[in-house]
Amino acid sequence: MNSPYMGNFRVTQEYKGSAHDGLDLVGIDSKEIHSTVNGIVKIARWENDADHSQGFGQFAAICADNTDDWYYYGHLSEIRVKVGDHVKITDVIGIEGSTGNSTGSHCHYCVRTGGVKGKHKNISEISGIPNALGVYDDGYRPETNGTQVTLTIGGVTYSGELFRK
Ligand SMILES: [Zn+2]
Repeated sequence: MNSPYMGNFRVTQEYKGSAHDGLDLVGIDSKEIHSTVNGIVKIARWENDADHSQGFGQFAAICADNTDDWYYYGHLSEIRVKVGDHVKITDVIGIEGSTGNSTGSHCHYCVRTGGVKGKHKNISEISGIPNALGVYDDGYRPETNGTQVTLTIGGVTYSGELFRK
């Protein structure tokens, strides 16, 4: 599976289509949020600069290379990227938080075609993260830095070195 975490994390809310267009995830081993794709940062800001309790709060969205799929990471306490950055899988893009419309620290992780709300895809199928409450281990470890990996995400195959900042 390909999660925004390294190691163990919890699914605290399932993907339910329009009713909840992503998975809510809580890091157990680390609160660092890693990019799950190679792509360009399209959004890195507050959903509403004047009201930090709205929507995704502080969030980032990354368009995966050679696709129109934007991967969202919501409710961050910190953003570590800016619009236009090209990020690779496993780059740290932020820190989990509880900004925006949120009652506890978690990451709302979803995919929207073209960055359009309502054009969600099934993030559970794309990421391989089970659409069920529970604790999972995505298998990434710092000691795997530099190893060659091949991942297929949303039908696009990526090859490259795993690394961590
Ligand atoms: Zn959510």
